[in-house]
Amino acid sequence: MQPMLIFNEGGLDHDPGVQHPERASRLLTLSNFNKRRPDLAERVETLSSQTLGERKALRLVHSLDHLSHLHEIDEQGGGMIDGDTVMSSASYQAALCGVGAGLAGVEAVRHGAPFAFAVIRPPGHHASVNRSMGFCLLNNVAVAAAVLRDQGERVLVLDWDAHHGNGTQDIFYEDSRVFYVSLHEYPAFPGTGALHETGRGEGIGCTMNFPFPSGTGEAVYLEAFDEVLVPVMEQYRPTWILVSAGYDAHYADPLTDLGLRSYTFFLLTARVQELARQHAQGRLVFFLEGGYNLEALAASFETTLEALLVHQGEADRRPTGDGRCREGHEVIERVRSLFLSYWDL
Ligand SMILES: [Zn+2]
Repeated sequence: MQPMLIFNEGGLDHDPGVQHPERASRLLTLSNFNKRRPDLAERVETLSSQTLGERKALRLVHSLDHLSHLHEIDEQGGGMIDGDTVMSSASYQAALCGVGAGLAGVEAVRHGAPFAFAVIRPPGHHASVNRSMGFCLLNNVAVAAAVLRDQGERVLVLDWDAHHGNGTQDIFYEDSRVFYVSLHEYPAFPGTGALHETGRGEGIGCTMNFPFPSGTGEAVYLEAFDEVLVPVMEQYRPTWILVSAGYDAHYADPLTDLGLRSYTFFLLTARVQELARQHAQGRLVFFLEGGYNLEALAASFETTLEALLVHQGEADRRPTGDGRCREGHEVIERVRSLFLSYWDL
């Protein structure tokens, strides 16, 4: 079975407004990757999906009130949820298709695909049990993680979008069966994702935040992986890995101020793939989140696929330049000392 790319076609019709950065051209640009990179396209199976996420799966994450609220706005032909989050007539359908594409990715990997990538919009990681916000209506990755959790799996959700995935964190904050890790710019939207947010109750020690200052670059991200995330995962031993793959931490992104380049996502992906191989029998599913510079989005998406399809080996460990290394390094040291209470580091 080949790796699977699932484009949620319904996502093309979601229209939050002409000036909105989360626009259909993001999906169109990525769906053109077969013209830009035929060498990669021939190694994957591509599926255009309009399958809706099942209500039973949605209800593992979202309240009935929340789903009814979105349904009501949909019945009215759309409307504004907040200043950033807008529904058009096709938006609810698009969001349901996004959830469906993510679940299809999980099923593809369950049936032997080496990995799957759900190329979806609207994004999902800011959506919580009761609330849509930050361009997100339904939490795609959380629905997939909840389905797997209820099947007895231990799930790592790795979120490298530039923004903190407050929705995903909230949903699993007291749940040790889903480990949520986020690397993000801080302070920035949505304002959450501080160091001390480490989980609650049974979930204590299973939420890990790296709140990086603006300008943080590749060397610090790699250090966070190699020095903290990998050793903790050697102890947590996830059986599935889901990635909230936003590409707005790229230096060219107009919404944020982090300093990654396209190739950084190659390096991060190679590490994630290694983790999946070691602990999760390779089971790895990616969910598109943000990324608002089309060229950077496409290039970063392609380096992710390149790492998965071509490299397939030990991650490249050559040192990289990083102008703001010290402050980012201090964040990692603080995360490490905080997590000494929960894990052997
Ligand atoms: Zn983002």
